[in-house]
Amino acid sequence: MTVRQRLKRSEMRAVFCGAVLALTAWSCTTAEKPAATGDAVSEPRKVAAMEIRAEGTGLTLALSAQEVVDGAVVLVAVDGVPPGGGSPRGQFGEVEFPFYPVPARGPRAFEAVLGIPPGHATGVAQVIVRHGGAELTAPLLIKDAQYPAENLKVDPRKVNPRKKDMIRIVREQKIVREVYEAVLAEKLWDGPFDYPVKSAITSIYGTRRLFNGEPRSFHAGLDLRAMVGTPVYAPAGGVVAFVGDLFFTGRTIIMDHGYGVKTVYAHMDKIAVKKGQRLARGHAIGLSGATGRVSGPHLHWMAIVHKTKVNPMDFIKVLR
Ligand SMILES: [Zn+2]
Repeated sequence: MTVRQRLKRSEMRAVFCGAVLALTAWSCTTAEKPAATGDAVSEPRKVAAMEIRAEGTGLTLALSAQEVVDGAVVLVAVDGVPPGGGSPRGQFGEVEFPFYPVPARGPRAFEAVLGIPPGHATGVAQVIVRHGGAELTAPLLIKDAQYPAENLKVDPRKVNPRKKDMIRIVREQKIVREVYEAVLAEKLWDGPFDYPVKSAITSIYGTRRLFNGEPRSFHAGLDLRAMVGTPVYAPAGGVVAFVGDLFFTGRTIIMDHGYGVKTVYAHMDKIAVKKGQRLARGHAIGLSGATGRVSGPHLHWMAIVHKTKVNPMDFIKVLR
């Protein structure tokens, strides 16, 4: 059985987790017999699929894939940037994204990480890169991920949080949004990401949840099985951008890995790091738990690229 088939099966067994929300895209599930993560880790990372050249400039542009699904991560590589000429700038729809130098690939090499928003329109989109007066455009085919949907029957009174809770939720959303918006111009990760917990996946990214037949939420992270008290590790180098206790995600850590790349650790029991602390890959950041709105203990792991919640599996498969 393939990893994908096993993941599908695990979703089928997923059970509804606790409280349910109208305003935010937040909900988690736990499953009985999760798929192992081992196979997924061994999948080969994608390499440049196509190269675009700008005549007369020496600039080239390559994407890590020519077609992706919504929620995916694309690596954008630019080569031939003249020394001392600054960094290229990227654009995808309304999103502008910065590039970082990659000395290991040569003095003229730059890369950027691009996240495709979940629910992005299907069809050919354009990745635009500008440097000096030159502009390069690479086509990127966006396909529908066809994330599975679950219909859950719940007490209608639990679909909407109380007014008092809503005030807190709105306040916390503003704080988190500001953390997401900050861009650190320093690449703190080196190589692909690890899983933060060596465990089984109990709910994949992307599952759409319908409550009493109404679309209500989107699973914007990856759930990893973890008993209360399971050590959680930094999957890559970064700095702690946020530590706090939030209504939905409970005790939460947000790590900033630089250039718009961030990871979130939710429902933690204990947090062992402080805001501003620099962490190397493998640093123990705390113990997983069941805080916030959950049905049971697990680690909800989210991957952010320029404010977009993308598939955390792509941090493992695509980033380098
Ligand atoms: Zn989750």
